[in-house]
Amino acid sequence: MFLKRLCLLLILTVNLQRYSIAQPSSYWQQDVDYLIHVTLDDVQHTLQGDIAITYRNNSPDELSLIYIHLWPNAYKNTKTAFARQKLESGSIDFYASKDEDKGYIDQLDFKVNNEPATLKYDEENPDIASLALPHPLKSGETITITTPFHVKIPKCFSRLGHTGQLYQISQWYPKPAVYDRKGWHPIPYLDQGEFYSEFGNFHVFITVPDNYVVGASGDLQNPSEIEWLNKLSEDGKNASYVAADLVFPPSSPTTKTLEYKIERSHDFAWFADKRFHVAKSAVALPQSERVVTTYVYFTNAHASEWYKACDYVNRAVLFYSDQVGEYPWNVAQAVDGSLEVEGAGGMEYPTITVLSGKYDSEMLDNVITHEVGHNWFYGILGFNERSYPWMDEGINTYYENRYMDTYYGDRTLFGLPSQVAKVFGVESGDADDVLWTVNQAVVNQNKAQPVQLHAAKYGTINYGLFVYAQTGFDFRYLADVMGQEQFDKVMRKFYKEWQFKHPQPEDMKLHFEKETGESYAWFFDKLIMEARGPDYSISKFQKGASAMAVDIKNNSDIPAAFSVSLMSGDSVLRTDWFRGFTGSQTIYFNYKPDWNVTHIKIDERKTIPETKRENNTIKTSGPFKTMEPLQIKPFFTAENPDKTNISYMPLVAWNDNDKWMAGLGIWNSTVATPMFEYVLAPMYSFTAKTVVGKGSAGFNLYPENSFIDRLRVSENFKRFSFDELNVVTLEDQLDTLAQFTRFETKGEIDFRKRSFTSKMSQGIVLRHLFIYENINGYNFDDVGKILPFDARYAINEITYSLKNKRLLFPHSLHVTLQDVAGSQKLFSEFNIKINYPKSKSGVNVRLFGGVWLGDPAPAEYGFTLAGVSSPYDYEYDQMYYGRNNNDGLLSRQISRENGFFKVPAFSADFVSDNFLGAANFEFVVPKTPVALFVDLAYFDRSATFIESTYIDNFQYDGGVMLQLVDNVVEFYFPLFMSPNLEEQFPDGTKYADKISFMVNFNAMNIFELMRKLEL
Ligand SMILES: [Zn+2]
Repeated sequence: MFLKRLCLLLILTVNLQRYSIAQPSSYWQQDVDYLIHVTLDDVQHTLQGDIAITYRNNSPDELSLIYIHLWPNAYKNTKTAFARQKLESGSIDFYASKDEDKGYIDQLDFKVNNEPATLKYDEENPDIASLALPHPLKSGETITITTPFHVKIPKCFSRLGHTGQLYQISQWYPKPAVYDRKGWHPIPYLDQGEFYSEFGNFHVFITVPDNYVVGASGDLQNPSEIEWLNKLSEDGKNASYVAADLVFPPSSPTTKTLEYKIERSHDFAWFADKRFHVAKSAVALPQSERVVTTYVYFTNAHASEWYKACDYVNRAVLFYSDQVGEYPWNVAQAVDGSLEVEGAGGMEYPTITVLSGKYDSEMLDNVITHEVGHNWFYGILGFNERSYPWMDEGINTYYENRYMDTYYGDRTLFGLPSQVAKVFGVESGDADDVLWTVNQAVVNQNKAQPVQLHAAKYGTINYGLFVYAQTGFDFRYLADVMGQEQFDKVMRKFYKEWQFKHPQPEDMKLHFEKETGESYAWFFDKLIMEARGPDYSISKFQKGASAMAVDIKNNSDIPAAFSVSLMSGDSVLRTDWFRGFTGSQTIYFNYKPDWNVTHIKIDERKTIPETKRENNTIKTSGPFKTMEPLQIKPFFTAENPDKTNISYMPLVAWNDNDKWMAGLGIWNSTVATPMFEYVLAPMYSFTAKTVVGKGSAGFNLYPENSFIDRLRVSENFKRFSFDELNVVTLEDQLDTLAQFTRFETKGEIDFRKRSFTSKMSQGIVLRHLFIYENINGYNFDDVGKILPFDARYAINEITYSLKNKRLLFPHSLHVTLQDVAGSQKLFSEFNIKINYPKSKSGVNVRLFGGVWLGDPAPAEYGFTLAGVSSPYDYEYDQMYYGRNNNDGLLSRQISRENGFFKVPAFSADFVSDNFLGAANFEFVVPKTPVALFVDLAYFDRSATFIESTYIDNFQYDGGVMLQLVDNVVEFYFPLFMSPNLEEQFPDGTKYADKISFMVNFNAMNIFELMRKLEL
């Protein structure tokens, strides 16, 4: 595949490059200037234009071709890199789109210095082509590349697009790929993964109907248009905005041509809408006092927040100018648009940024500031965002966080009041603490990815967690190590030296080292390259009269700088920073004899991106010096690294046998998943007058660098009452309450996936079950003597599972070999969704096959035709509202096992001790919870099986089902069934007695969901 080839090329060139970066004087970059004329057709949604590109080859190499990006072609068909990524991330919109809503660029006729030149499209990517130059372009030479072009603007599926007559024109013109010290960078357009472009000057003429308001990169050159924008801005001050009024007015029959110029820019984008309101303002830069004009463009939809948004643009321009370096352009603008980028709230282009969605004023400020900030970290420092997305998103996030801290103080995540957050154990409720907890959980569960990775290699959630949040943490840490003042000084100089250039990670590292005389290999070559952060711990300390020796161990291989503090209670007596190391070392402190040092703490400020903070503290006196105090809190708590966490919650539950139960849930699980984890839910049944409930205790291991991704060994316990037919004498039978007790020893292995973004996973589960049914029953021997009995049996089982959770044709396979009470059975289940054309919805097909390998077993262990009802759940795997109830709706709760017929035919006639094959079909009605079901089965019973009636081998049923939550809460309404099944319901049976249902409690286990984060 093209991308793989490209990556390999990059790896090779990166390695070679190491030797040449020592000579920054050898730096060069290409100059690419553009002259573009373009006309919008707002009926056909097309652009007609021509472009002249002046390309100066500043490289030492002779070029025989130039790679050209034709990114509107990303929307050409469903096979492009963009289309495939969109589908992989779970979005069906583009895949299912009509041809007329797709987009492309055509009518190209390239000439180089007026000589025809051949364009050759990349075989895999229609949005990349190479232009063979008629004559080689020597070092230092300049050529002019011209072509007409025509763009069919797609409906908005990502960034370039139109929503009605709102036009977002970005990544729209033929554009040379970057040629730099590492070679060519031809890259297909992607949703997740941004840009890398050459710097140059743009001169652009845009023709639109007169009544369009246009916001574009750079300086508008038409005085009359500036006048008009001024007037709109003035009018807007007294306007009343009707949010619901979003009608596009008719387009003027006459057109205007707007002229824009921007220098030293690597892109040009424009946005046009006839409905736009305009707000205009200005801000004087702190150093030069040069005035930057600011504009925001917005529709009625979000006018109540947006009319004051110029203030945010102004403040962001000032903040970044002050913190990083002066803004170089004359305008800064923001547009209220509509993006369809996965999870994106905004998108940046030089001098203009587009946002999408509704925000309160704080969030609007936040997003605008982030996007305006990209003028520095992408617009001016032209990073390769595709290969190193942390450089623009992450560093920008660091400054954005500082902006938000400056103007909003400590923020809580999701705006939770800090008191509420505290209840949930999130210390201070600070957004950083919560995000750290989430990151730690992801790290613990082997789901972390390094900060420095190609953009396309991240899972969608990880892209946010690591590229954005983690890089932000890492840079805050770096600033803490260096001291804020020095960090700012170094960054400002970096900005000065590298503005309008293409700095690579190694350039940044070299700059930090040159400016400080310190080595930052631990940061740039280790910390950001590894999925797990450092982990220092204190093993012991020795106290002298005025000095202290502290033994520190680094449990990671990242020699990251760290701080150690002497503490007296909550107050810090002294904090020192130390150079990092691997292995163990002793560090020394001086302290005053009158200091009451109660404990010693690593990373007191919580700025080190440590994966484990539990081992950071040691007490100076008393036993259990490294033991943490208990933190006992109700409900779900976030991990508090200074405490041993225990959560509790009062429980009330009900089933038809135990009736009302009350008890206490106690657990130590957190989203970070402790290695030793327990969840206990003891309850008291007021009817059975006994203790019932559930519990589990287990070890969770997520080994690094192993073919095993997750290993869990657990002991599970369950005890509830059930309805037992109690034979008291030969004549008398009565229903009575008994309890089952179930012990399950379980080993689960999840194998590592082929790649992080792979949708396929595999695993093995081993189980040993011991079931004790406290029946209190009696039997009679030959002479009528009473023999009390209890039932007890064991089950051993191994299951292999494969799951592929892709959007189209997702499927799963489970194969189980089971020994129950000495008999063996083998069964397998295959599920696949067959998508309707261009739909997320489809037909769910389930195939089941089961066979007994040895001696036939008692009926209750057999393969049931119907979904498993409580009397056949001999593994006691499920939770039933009315276990062993004989009648009533609760007796018709079934689970998706065996034949999974929905007709409640639970008689032993429909249980096989030989083999059973079944096929279940669910025809889902799209966008409704309704489906039609059909079940088919072929089964046989051995001769020894008691056959009371003749039953056909082939059976069927069908009807309507309500899927409130797929495979969790479902109701089944049979409409037809095979004659044998029909016979189960004598004349006069009410229809309601044929209805069955599913409530799958196992699928609702929140602890299980926390253990297996899906990212
Ligand atoms: Zn961003």
